[in-house]
Amino acid sequence: MEQQVQGEAIVKLSSVSFQYDDKRVLTDVDFTLERGDFLGIVGPNGSGKSTLMKLILGLLTPTSGGVYLFGKPLSKFREWNRIGYVAQQVAHGAGGFPTTVREVVSSGLVGKVGLFRRLTASHHQQVKEAVERVGLLEKLDQRIGSLSGGQLQRVFIARALVAEPELLILDEPTVGVDQESIEQFYSLLRSLKEENGMTMMIVSHDVGVMTQWVNKVACVQQKIHFHGTAHEFEHNHEHILQQMYGGSMKLLSHHH
Ligand code: ADP
Ligand code: MG
Repeated sequence: MEQQVQGEAIVKLSSVSFQYDDKRVLTDVDFTLERGDFLGIVGPNGSGKSTLMKLILGLLTPTSGGVYLFGKPLSKFREWNRIGYVAQQVAHGAGGFPTTVREVVSSGLVGKVGLFRRLTASHHQQVKEAVERVGLLEKLDQRIGSLSGGQLQRVFIARALVAEPELLILDEPTVGVDQESIEQFYSLLRSLKEENGMTMMIVSHDVGVMTQWVNKVACVQQKIHFHGTAHEFEHNHEHILQQMYGGSMKLLSHHH
């Protein structure tokens, strides 16, 4: 019964609260992501966006409330290869790191293939296709340390894509990526949504650009302050952002 009530929601949070030790980060969050949504998440630094993503991915457990994935309570959900995740990057400094693009992207198949099994020819083909999809085929056997920030982010997308997930979660994938590459990046995401019917959720600070590509927006600061269509957000954004950022719009372009 309860599972039918979850309907077509791919992600559902019901009254979720979370705290680290004694620090309360999210309070009573209700949230739904529907199949085919391309949702943008905005909020000031430290407002709980990454925490929200980690709760959805089961990397953290709510203090109270429930998380449902594809209609199942998180505790019963096992099909993790239906979900791709690109984590927020902590300072690159990949300098002389010897791993190649092919190796990084292949690691995205671990969930499907098993840790110590060999990749088959068809797995190798999937890896090549994912790398081609993000426009980096000519870099396949290069070390990731030799790539630009924008290229590296595309490698992480390819790794998340290679197992053909239905839901892709991206946490600040455009930090450190130049303006022109950001547009290309969103254009890639949109084509993934349109051609592969993927559902996507992206945390981003580039609110102005992002809201032109997504169809839904959620604003997080301990609670969900707004959750609606990109169109509704655009019409009310001054009011919504004022509430969230306390009037200091400068925060919007503040990258860390
Ligand atoms: P955002 O992604 O919106 O910048 P986070 O979800 O990363 O915010 O963090 C929310 C709050 O929780 C911040 O105040 C942060 O300092 C705190 N926090 C994040 N991770 C931890 C942790 N592992 N232990 C304790 N506090 C944390
Ligand atoms: Mg974060």
